Amino acid sequence: MQNISKKGLIVVLGAGESGVGAAILAKDKGFDVFVSEYASIAPKYRAVLEAEQIPFEEGQHTMEKVLAAGEIIKSPGIPDTAPVIQAAVAQGIHIISEIEFAGRYTDAKMVCITGSNGKTTTTSLIYHILRRAGINAGLAGNIGNSLALQVARDPHPVYVIELSSFQLDNMYDFKANIAVLLNITPDHLDRYGYEMQNYVNAKFRILQNLTPQDAFIFWNDDPVIAAQLKQISTEAGMFPFAEKQEENTVAYIDANDELVINTPGTSLTMPRADLALHGLHNIYNSMAAGISACLLNIRRDDIRAALSDFAGVEHRLEPAGTIDQVEWINDSKATNVNSCWYALEAMKRPTVLILGGKDKGNDYSEILPLVKQKVVAIVAMGKDNAKILNYFGQHTDLPVVDTHSIEEAVEQCRRLAQPGQTVLLSPCCASFDLFKSYEDRGRQFKALVNSLKH
Ligand code: ADP
Repeated sequence: MQNISKKGLIVVLGAGESGVGAAILAKDKGFDVFVSEYASIAPKYRAVLEAEQIPFEEGQHTMEKVLAAGEIIKSPGIPDTAPVIQAAVAQGIHIISEIEFAGRYTDAKMVCITGSNGKTTTTSLIYHILRRAGINAGLAGNIGNSLALQVARDPHPVYVIELSSFQLDNMYDFKANIAVLLNITPDHLDRYGYEMQNYVNAKFRILQNLTPQDAFIFWNDDPVIAAQLKQISTEAGMFPFAEKQEENTVAYIDANDELVINTPGTSLTMPRADLALHGLHNIYNSMAAGISACLLNIRRDDIRAALSDFAGVEHRLEPAGTIDQVEWINDSKATNVNSCWYALEAMKRPTVLILGGKDKGNDYSEILPLVKQKVVAIVAMGKDNAKILNYFGQHTDLPVVDTHSIEEAVEQCRRLAQPGQTVLLSPCCASFDLFKSYEDRGRQFKALVNSLKH
């Protein structure tokens, strides 16, 4: 490339939310920028790049241009095995994530949340607490506008950031002030050489660069986190939480069914029944959020109020309506067996369970005890339901119905669910066989439930 400015060339790979935000920040900071997208660029982002006069290409990576980079900012969606990444690594080009890049240009406080499940809920809840308490917080990472865009054009004194393992992979000097690690269960192993330890290491990158002034908040009963903590050391203050009080836990549920949070600056209690989010998993999420808020010196009354009026996040145990005394719940985001386990754990009434979609190698034995205890019928919904039909046909006496569309599945649930029961969409599977995304699946479900009302 010609006429590169003194600051050098930054190539951004991937033109989604994070890539376009990174390109804008890089431009504002005086770099030459080139954006390269292998697929096609969504019209919304193409329009932004054009308006910002940032050069880009789509449908290909022109190696000559990409390899001219002084540094590459990579979208978390691009695996290390992609030829363009391998070529860049071979040339010794430094590859970072958008969050790493944005972190260089802000002194804001960083509250970072990772884990296999519960990231979006906990991130949104912390953001809700801060906003409700009048703090000018920004929401970033996998949710909302990219961190880079906010740092460039709409800066905040504190950011609440949801971090996936893929984002953490290319972070080196970035430092959180408060790091939350909710849990680690096997996920995305295809991106980690099918080695669980590689995935664990990626999650633990959230701890890197933490100082004694920083905090590490984590679930004390997670065996994977516990094992890893024996291997590594951190200078950060430790803030473990658990369902019951254990040695060192700073948050737990006490014998009176009260949520207790004790940090050096704040002691807070509130009845568990007042928490807006239900289910054991959401108690953990509320604890992680409550500890974060205490460490940020939010007033106790504000924390209690926010924990009790949080509206929840779409597609996560979201009430979809009650019709003829049957309650319908949209948990479309449950794309793995573990999250369905927590959804079932939260069910208080006999449940008709919709399962199915694109199976990522599921082992249904994890939910079998809860299915036997709480489920009255299973509606399998997918292109190919053989595994679900066989497994639950063999291991339970429940009716297991075969359906191949959401319309059929809802119709069967309507037939099967009796007054006083619940229909739960918590499919354990990705949605791509029948839907565009889990959001699409959840919205179609809600629309159909809504139509039953008329
Ligand atoms: P993520 O952003 O990590 O995918 P979400 O907050 O979107 O997590 O929740 C996804 C699903 O995971 C929810 O539908 C719920 O069933 C389950 N879940 C939420 N929080 C937890 C948790 N702390 N532990 C285990 N499962 C959880």
